[in-house]
Amino acid sequence: MDAPELFDGSDLLRGAAVFQGFSPPVRLGVFGDPVEHSRSPVFHNAALKACGIPAAYTRLHVDVAHFYEALRSLPAAGFLGANVTIPHKAAALAGVDEADDYARASGSVNTVVVDGQKLIGFNTDGPGLSRAIREEFSVDLKDLRIVLLGAGGGAGRAIAVQCAMESCDRLVLVNRSLEKALALAADLAPRFRSEKPAGPVERLVAIPHEEEALARELEHADILINATALGMKRTDPPAVPAHLLSPNLLVYDTVYSGGATRLLEDAASAGARSANGLSMLLHQGALSFEIWFNRPAPLEVMRRALFSMA
Ligand code: NAP
Repeated sequence: MDAPELFDGSDLLRGAAVFQGFSPPVRLGVFGDPVEHSRSPVFHNAALKACGIPAAYTRLHVDVAHFYEALRSLPAAGFLGANVTIPHKAAALAGVDEADDYARASGSVNTVVVDGQKLIGFNTDGPGLSRAIREEFSVDLKDLRIVLLGAGGGAGRAIAVQCAMESCDRLVLVNRSLEKALALAADLAPRFRSEKPAGPVERLVAIPHEEEALARELEHADILINATALGMKRTDPPAVPAHLLSPNLLVYDTVYSGGATRLLEDAASAGARSANGLSMLLHQGALSFEIWFNRPAPLEVMRRALFSMA
């Protein structure tokens, strides 16, 4: 019998019998609230099948109050690991026994490995974004002057840390609440000292999400990355005013729900090359698969599964 597409977090507390009687048994899943919309099961189940791995991947709905006990129940429920999405990524870092350097610097975990009774945390959002940018635009983060919107959010921080670790040419941290961008800039500053020759402008700056400041910084930018929630709803205002976009700016929108966002439409009108967050979603998922199974992910199988539902 196939497993249901959605479980409640409390099912995890009832032990392995709930998950292991299906064919194939449920051994992976994604925690979230809401989680019904998650596309991860589609491409992970396609990958598991293509690789002949007898495991199914499901959605695990759990609210903030019950996340910790659900997470800690993974070993007893017979799971190999899990993904974590909104709003649990920061709590997942606090809930695992160990986390790698990048997850700790990002302040969040999106991939958990069950190792005996221990839980090990990783974050694949930043490396996934990096691979997506290379695939979409044939450029590496290290060669780019980047303006990052939403730097104070969970995904924004993970992307900023990745940009810093790859020593990008320049990073402008933009956030509606400026204090979060300033705090992140203070954390990342040591990584921007002395590795590259100083240019006419500072390599790391933090600015508020305001038109005048954006206009100034976009003059020195190669790519604009949107990691705000703006664009998830059709009624959202544009993430940046359309007239600030130009043909020589690359635009990457991490939002992937519901077709082209206003930002991507404006980028197309301005003649700018642009891409949406589906490629980041694909690559962060492929990297999770590689962490769980220590083998290359069947990327094209996953891509076909994901894009067939886009
Ligand atoms: P989050 O932690 O809640 O952060 C939201 C960010 O958006 C914050 O920086 C927030 O600024 C900013 N923001 C919200 N409303 C805004 C507004 N009206 N004007 C300006 N800024 C606003 O959320 P998250 O988990 O980082 O997710 C952020 C985005 O990343 C979402 O769109 C999500 O779809 C996307 N994402 C994509 C992938 C992928 O694989 N493609 C993976 C992860 C996330 P304040 O700090 O001032 O509140």
